[in-house]
Amino acid sequence: MTGKTYQAPRGTSDLLPPASERWARVEATTRTLFRLYGFQEIRTPIFEARELFDRGIGEMTDIVEKQMYVFQDRGGDWLALRPEGTASVLRAFVEHHLDQTMPPPYRYFYIGPMFRHERPQRGRYRQFHQIGVEALGESAPEVDAEVIALGWEFLRHVGARGIQVELNSIGCPTCRLPYQGALRAYWQAHADKLCPDCRRRMDRNPLRVLDCKNEACQAVLQGAPVIDDYWCNPCRTHFEAVRSALAALDVPYVRNARLVRGLDYYMRTAFEMTTEGLGAQNAVLGGGRYDGLLRALGGPDWPGIGFAIGMERLMDVLPETAEPVPALAVMFLPLTEAARGAALQGVQTVRRLGIPTWARMDVGSVKSGLRSAYRAGVRFVVIIGEDELRAGQWTLRDMSASRQETLSPKEAVEAIRRALGLDALET
Ligand code: ATP
Ligand code: MG
Repeated sequence: MTGKTYQAPRGTSDLLPPASERWARVEATTRTLFRLYGFQEIRTPIFEARELFDRGIGEMTDIVEKQMYVFQDRGGDWLALRPEGTASVLRAFVEHHLDQTMPPPYRYFYIGPMFRHERPQRGRYRQFHQIGVEALGESAPEVDAEVIALGWEFLRHVGARGIQVELNSIGCPTCRLPYQGALRAYWQAHADKLCPDCRRRMDRNPLRVLDCKNEACQAVLQGAPVIDDYWCNPCRTHFEAVRSALAALDVPYVRNARLVRGLDYYMRTAFEMTTEGLGAQNAVLGGGRYDGLLRALGGPDWPGIGFAIGMERLMDVLPETAEPVPALAVMFLPLTEAARGAALQGVQTVRRLGIPTWARMDVGSVKSGLRSAYRAGVRFVVIIGEDELRAGQWTLRDMSASRQETLSPKEAVEAIRRALGLDALET
C-alpha cells in the first residue's frame, strides 16, 4: 500500500541543501556586518495580536487590507502571522522598556520568515524571509545615510551586482498635507485611467497611488506632482544633509521623486535598492524613516529608521559561487555489529577535530559501503571489521588514491589531519 503524498502549501517552499548552506552563509555575513554598525539581533514571535499590525502598518495599506494571515485561535484571540518585522520589534522594545533597561545604541536586526497572502510568482511568495534593521532614538540625517550605507555594503559584500540605490523624502505630516492635496486633485483629474484599487484609495491615501504596480497607473503617475515643491524647511534641510552624508560615505544613489513606501508611518527618508537580475519593479531592499511609529505603539516619542531585505529575491540574484559546501570528509564503516561501538567512538574523535564525519552503521559489505562513500564524496573511509576490532586498529582508505593501510586510531587520526591540512588545529 502506498501512502498519500503531500505538497508544501502554495507560495511556500522548502529550503534544501545545498541552497540552505548558501542561505546560512549570507546569514552569517549579516550577523558579522550588522554588528559592526552596532546592531544586535532580536527575535520576536511569528504571530502577534492582529491589532498590532493594523496600527503599526496602517489600515489603508495593501498588507493590512488584503495580505495578512489573520486567524482566531482556540481561545478566541485574534492573531496574525507577521507580515513584516518593524511592528514586532517596536512592540518588543516597548514591552520590555528597552529605552530604560538597556544602554544605547538602540539598534536591532532580525532574520526570519514573514507571511503575506499574495499571488505567488517569481520573487513573491506567501512565506518569505526578511533580514531587517531598526535604529530607534536617532534622528540625525547622518543616521539615515549610515543605515542606507549598511544596506548597500551588505548587498555588495554578499556579491550582488548592479546595485542601484533609489532615494526620496516623502516629507513629514506637516508638509505632506498640501502635497497630498495636490496629488488628490491630480488623481481626480485622471481617475478614469486608474485601477479600481487606486480609485478607491486616492482620496484617503493619495501617496499610495504612486506605489501602484498596475501598468495603467504607472503611466498616469509619470505626470503627477512631485514632493520637492511642498517640503517644509526642516524636511528639505534633512534631505539635503542625508544626500551629503551619502556622498561622504561614497554611496552612489539616484533620486526617485516618486518613490513612496507601503507603511503609513513612513516619513522623510524613503529608499529602495534593486540589483541586476531582479524582475522589473521588484526591489530587494526597502526602508525608510518612521518617526511617529514608536509613540503610536505606546512607546517613547522617539524617531526610528530601518529597512528590510527580501532573502528569496536576494538569493535569486546572487551569482552562483564556486565555493564548495563543506561536505563530509570521513566515513566510518563498521562491518560487524560488534564494531559499531568502536565506530561510534571513532566518529566522535574525528568530529572533535572539526572534521565532518559520519558512520554508516547499517552497511552490508565493504563493497556497498565504499559505493556510498564514493557517492557521499568523502576523502577517507575508516573500515572496522572483525580483525581490526580484535587488534584495536582502523583500516584507513584514502578514496582519492584508492590506497589503504591498517593503523592504530592515533596514527589514523594523525594521517587524516595531515592530509586535510589541519596540523595547526587543537586536539
Ligand atoms: P513589493 O513592492 O515588491 O510588494 P513591498 O514594498 O511590499 O514590496 P516591503 O514591505 O518593503 O516590500 O518588504 C521589503 C522587502 O521584502 C521587499 O523589497 C522584497 O524584497 C521583500 N518582499 C516583500 N514582499 C515579498 C513577498 N511576498 N515575497 C518575497 N519577498 C517579498
Ligand atoms: Mg508588497
